[in-house]
Order: sequence, then structure tokens, then C-alpha cells
Amino acid sequence: MRIPFLLVAITSAAVTAQSPQPNWTAIEAETLKHFEAIIRMDTTDPPGGEKPVADYLKQVLEAEGLPVQVFSKEPHRPNIVTRIKGTGKQRPLLLMAHTDTVNVDPKKWTHPPFSAARDGGYIYGRGTVDDKDNVVATLMVMLMLARQHVALDRDVIALFEAGEEGSSSIGIQFVANEHFDAIDSEFCYAEGGSVVRSGGVVKFASVQTVEKIPRAISVTARGVAGHGSVPLETNALAHLGEAVGKIALWTPPMRLNETTAAYFKRLATVSTPEEAKRYQDLLSPDPKVSKPADDYMRKHEPRHWSMLRTSLSPTVIAGGYRTNVIPSEGTATIDTRLAPDEDPAKFLEMVRQVVNDPQVEVSYGARDTRPPTPAAKLDSDAFKALEANLTKHYKAVTLPTMSTGATDMAFLRRKGVQCYGIGPATDVEDGPKGFGAHSDQERILESELYRFVRFNWDAVVDLARAK
Ligand SMILES: [Zn+2]
Repeated sequence: MRIPFLLVAITSAAVTAQSPQPNWTAIEAETLKHFEAIIRMDTTDPPGGEKPVADYLKQVLEAEGLPVQVFSKEPHRPNIVTRIKGTGKQRPLLLMAHTDTVNVDPKKWTHPPFSAARDGGYIYGRGTVDDKDNVVATLMVMLMLARQHVALDRDVIALFEAGEEGSSSIGIQFVANEHFDAIDSEFCYAEGGSVVRSGGVVKFASVQTVEKIPRAISVTARGVAGHGSVPLETNALAHLGEAVGKIALWTPPMRLNETTAAYFKRLATVSTPEEAKRYQDLLSPDPKVSKPADDYMRKHEPRHWSMLRTSLSPTVIAGGYRTNVIPSEGTATIDTRLAPDEDPAKFLEMVRQVVNDPQVEVSYGARDTRPPTPAAKLDSDAFKALEANLTKHYKAVTLPTMSTGATDMAFLRRKGVQCYGIGPATDVEDGPKGFGAHSDQERILESELYRFVRFNWDAVVDLARAK
């Protein structure tokens, strides 16, 4: 249909002046339709099989006139890229979401895992909060940008990636290494943050700006083999056990960075006075003040304790093969999460000193690791757009957050893209009840899905539209 010129002129003037507001009633119905469709497609990884979702997205985007590129290392696991062009005055913004999910045990689900059943204000299904919420929010933003002909200073690119849950070699690693020109951006918004509700009330929002670097430390003890009836002081397993115990009980030095310092400072502003004092104490340069708070974290808030340092968790132990034989060797694996600014070689030397046993060798083991990456900046336009819209839509204080785990953003940060992890509002009570990401069951509040779409829309438009 041809639109009279005058109308076009008025419309584009209107959309460049202010953040244009779509018809949200219609958008919510459309969001639900797409969300239900992709939740009903089983893309559990392994084995993956993201193609049905990729085909669906491709068809919806192309019907809107958007160009779609498909990048597949394996035919049933395509990655989908689409782009809306801007003037090029500024470098692109990338929106990234993954189309695979973790596995399910159908017996544990009240509502079947691929039903997208709606009940009591929730939508149930694998992927509802990880990460098909981000998939559908990104899809809707792209459709609305195209329909409203929003004038943009920077291209907006969407990447719907496969394999996030354990096969990055066919997903982000493949796209970032082989097709980076298709996604090269200044900024990226992806999963990894959240809006935390407690008792139905928003407490704060977290935006992931940096993550720890996963490594593995191997601990190998060696001794003389012998008969189990004759105890030996050199028993390899005894030395291994002692070494593992020392490592687990050790407190590596505390190190704060820009993100974690801002995190605890802002967290204090939305905490009870007692909690607030502890978070502030952590920031004190005086160890007499910070240490008691740090010790409290170790016991009661282990995720926060991990955010304060490189962490070490013994996770695998192996050695011995029969009751009456003292083995000559035993090994343990320590899941090591390096603080972003930690010097890996110096840190390993510290662990060796903690173990302090000539019978025990400590070294970095092989790990399909994500690369060390710089933190995204807190004073960037991309962070400010998120912060402003978290305030607008959620009335929430924004906490920049360091993830103790690893995400696909690491592959982009390594290439110089500043990435920010976001997410919809979820209830803290839902995790312990078994409804969170990777839980036995998974669900999202329908109203929060829609609020997340509106938040995404405003943040993207604020950051990318022509000024
Ligand atoms: Zn995820």
C-alpha cells in the first residue's frame, strides 16, 4: 500500500522527536503468539536442534521485509542475523539471544515443558526465562523498529544464536570467529541481568557488565605404592586430601573492581540497615572493617563472597582402585573462577604456597574456557540507556553486576564489543520453589514478559535513534 507523502513526513517527524510508542495492546497479543510458538518447539541442548525456532524467526522477520542471514556450522543448528540500517553516524547496537534451552525431565513438570500453558498469571515452559524471553523481546523490537520506520543513528542488529547451553563452537564462537562482520558492534544487549522482585515488589535491577574467567586447577599427589596393610606417610591420597582441604579453606585476597565496588555501594541503598552496613564495610580499605563483613559473606552470602575474589571449589576427585592397594597417584580438579584482573600465573603460585607440599603438583588443567575479557563501561550511552529505562519501567536502582559464571558475552567482549546482560523481572521466591532458569520447572509472569518488551523497546530506541 502506498502512503501519501504528507503522512510519511508527519510520521517520521514524530518518531524522531520522541520515543515512539506502539499500540501496546496489539503488541502484547503478538508477543504472546510468538512466545507460545517458540516455547512449543523443543530446542533442548543437547542435542540442540534449534532449526525450527530459527526457521520461524526467519519467516516472521522476512514477512516484515527484514533481511535475514543464516550461519550454520551444523545444518540443524542455525544462527540467525538480521539488521536494520541506520545512518551510520554511530557504530551498531547488537541484540543477542539464544534459541536453545537446557534439558527437561518431563515427569517433574506440572504443566508439560513445551506446552506454554498459561495459569495464574504465569506462562510455563522450558526457555520461558532462559532465554526465549530475550528471543521474543528482541524479535518484537526488530519488528516494531521496521514498522515504525524509526530513524536510527546506528544499525540495530539481532543475533539469534544456537548452542549457548553447551555448544558455543556451533554458536557464538562460530559466528564471532567466522562471521564477525555480520555482528560487529559498539554495544550489545544480551541475557545475564535481571530485575529482582521480592514479595511481589521490585527490589533492584542488575545489569551484567563483567564476568569471571573460568579455569581449572589440577592437583596431583604422588607417593610410593604399597600394601594397604602397611600405612605409609607418603600415601598419595592422604597428601591429596590434605591439599584439597587447604585449598578449600583458603581465602584468596579480596579484590574489588569498578563493577563490584559500584554493585555493593548501590546494593547498600536498597538493603536493610544491618545488611547495608556490611556491604559498606566490604568497601573499606581497612581490613579490620572489611574482614568481618567478608567472613559473613563466606558463611551466609557465598555468591557475594565469590564476587569479591578469585574463587576455588574442589569438584572432582579421583584416585585408587582397590581396598588393599595404596595407589601411587591421586588427582583433584578445582573449579577456579579468576577475578577479571587476576594474574593467572601469580595466582597459581599462591595456591602452590597454600598447599606447600613437595609431593603435590599444582597446575592449570585443560578447560574449554571462555576468554578473559575487559569489563563494559559504566559511563557508556548503552549503560545509561538501560539505567534510565530500568528507572522508568521498574522504578529500580540499577546494580552493575559481575557474573561469577560465564556467558557468551565473553566472546564478544574479547572482540571489543561492550556487552550488557539484562533480563525480565522474576521473583526471588521462584528459584527455591523450583521454577527458575535450569530448574525442574520454568515459568515467567506474563505481565513481566510484556514489561520486558516495553523496557527493551525504550532502551534500544533511546540508544539507537537519530538524535
Ligand atoms: Zn541462557
